[in-house]
Amino acid sequence: MHIKRFSLGLLRSNCYVISNQGHAIIIDPGYESLEVIQYIEGENLIVDLIYITHGHHDHVGGVKQMKSHFDVLVYAPKKDIEFMGNFPLNRFGYPIPVDVWVTEGYTFDALGKSFIVYDAPGHSEGGTLLYVDHILFTGDTLFYQSIGRTDIPRANSEILYHTIKKMYRIFPKETIIYPGHGRHSTIGHEQQFNPFVRL
Ligand SMILES: [Zn+2]
Repeated sequence: MHIKRFSLGLLRSNCYVISNQGHAIIIDPGYESLEVIQYIEGENLIVDLIYITHGHHDHVGGVKQMKSHFDVLVYAPKKDIEFMGNFPLNRFGYPIPVDVWVTEGYTFDALGKSFIVYDAPGHSEGGTLLYVDHILFTGDTLFYQSIGRTDIPRANSEILYHTIKKMYRIFPKETIIYPGHGRHSTIGHEQQFNPFVRL
């Protein structure tokens, strides 16, 4: 399995293309991006689906473009529908085209692997983690030596704290985390060095 990271837009949001044996899934296409499309086409990858970790604009802004370009299903957390459907918190003026609304425990098979969705509320109500093969895509919940913002609508610092404590308990130390912004890390590193939430 190969993981390619693109940091897109002013907020440098991470969009990941995970690939295996000629197939790929796209995580958090936050901005329209020819660079991502060109990479996928250059590598001759068949895109199987798009996964959204949470509904914030800098993680979903490129979904419409990617979905229509690759003609694939979009999976997104149900509890963040307020940011993606026809609601005031949606800044786009159109609903994000989501096909499958997911929540805790949802699993799907792609790239010959099993992916598992975990709820991770706090930064947003519907924030999720996506686990596959000792790897965790953490959205804006847990970063390298940092955590998600909670000074924004529908965020809650106490809930985020509990979510991260739970992550430290349930995922092994060697689990690699790929966050929504910045570099990768491991659960073990964050348990020891994260200045906001430690084990
Ligand atoms: Zn966010």
